[in-house]
Amino acid sequence: MTGKELLRLMLQGGPGFCQIAVTNACNAHCHFCSFPRVAPGERVMADPARLCRGLKVLRDQGVNYLCLTGGEPLLYPALLPALGRARDLAIHTLLCSNGWLLTPAYIRDLKIAGLSTLIISIDGPTAAVHDAHRGLPGLTGHIRELVPELRRAGLDPVASVTLSRLIIDLGEMLRFLEELGFRRVTFSYPITRLNSSYLGFADHYSVDFTPAELYGWFSRVKELKAATSLHILNPRLALSELQRRLRGHPPRFPCLAGYKYWFVDWDLQVFRCHYLGEPLGPLEEFCQIPPIRNGCNACAIDCYRDPSVYQYLAVSVADSLAALRRGNWLAGLGALLHPYNFLSLAALLEGRHWLRG
Ligand code: SF4
Ligand code: SF4
Repeated sequence: MTGKELLRLMLQGGPGFCQIAVTNACNAHCHFCSFPRVAPGERVMADPARLCRGLKVLRDQGVNYLCLTGGEPLLYPALLPALGRARDLAIHTLLCSNGWLLTPAYIRDLKIAGLSTLIISIDGPTAAVHDAHRGLPGLTGHIRELVPELRRAGLDPVASVTLSRLIIDLGEMLRFLEELGFRRVTFSYPITRLNSSYLGFADHYSVDFTPAELYGWFSRVKELKAATSLHILNPRLALSELQRRLRGHPPRFPCLAGYKYWFVDWDLQVFRCHYLGEPLGPLEEFCQIPPIRNGCNACAIDCYRDPSVYQYLAVSVADSLAALRRGNWLAGLGALLHPYNFLSLAALLEGRHWLRG
């Protein structure tokens, strides 16, 4: 990155991040998800030409990170061209998959197309639990065989684990991930309701927790961060923030969805996030969507709440520089020296393992 690019990034409050669900089709049958309910006749693949045009608009608007998801994104026929287009635009790409369609040749193609990070979801602490929940017999064995291949290709995978009743003992879950060969894990917080078109939720007992149960889960994840050799990527500070939310305290680190993060569905409609239902416009017109900063605290989705803690510092520095440029020294110095900046920096250092390929 050149000095000019770094300065631009600082003035912008750090990078933008967009999740695009390139299809609503999935080949798995997870109970805590509603994608399996999409009928064959209702399956949609994002229009490749529109998607590629949209990636350029995103890049021009400061989106430097892109996560392609689904449904199952490996079902999307234009996945490799889309990744290649993002690579050519210098956008870092992440891909979130159940892993069933991965092959050694596909892994090499993904790497050549510029994929930076592969996230593979694992639901339960044994092969039998995971495979039965996904409805894909042999899936765990397949992933176990491919993890060394992924690492050789330079794609050290991240395990993504939804906190659910499939897991009785979180320590056992982490030992299982280590045995499968993972070195990094991120926990997804359970979701029973979303209002956008995204279907990665279900009103199912396996993810329906009381606030007290959720509080306990977050405490346990924090404890295990010190006790496991795996890198748990959710920052302690973000987990504590969600615990404060469960107790009714106001947020200290405002959610940046709509300002730095967005969700785009298979019809290439932009939403502020997975939770809020109002579409903001088509992807190609992303440059006309005004940024939103209104302190929303309506959900606890890790994809938005965790990075909002990391990025607080960068946003604070940008706010400070903007105030100083306006000649408002008091506001500028106040934003620059705010004590939460130091907490955010600690969280950022804790999350640095996201950046390893
Ligand atoms: S959780 Fe992922 S793999 Fe499972 S059904 Fe939903 S989209 Fe498919
Ligand atoms: S708090 Fe949740 S609902 Fe509100 S903007 Fe952030 S991600 Fe969306």
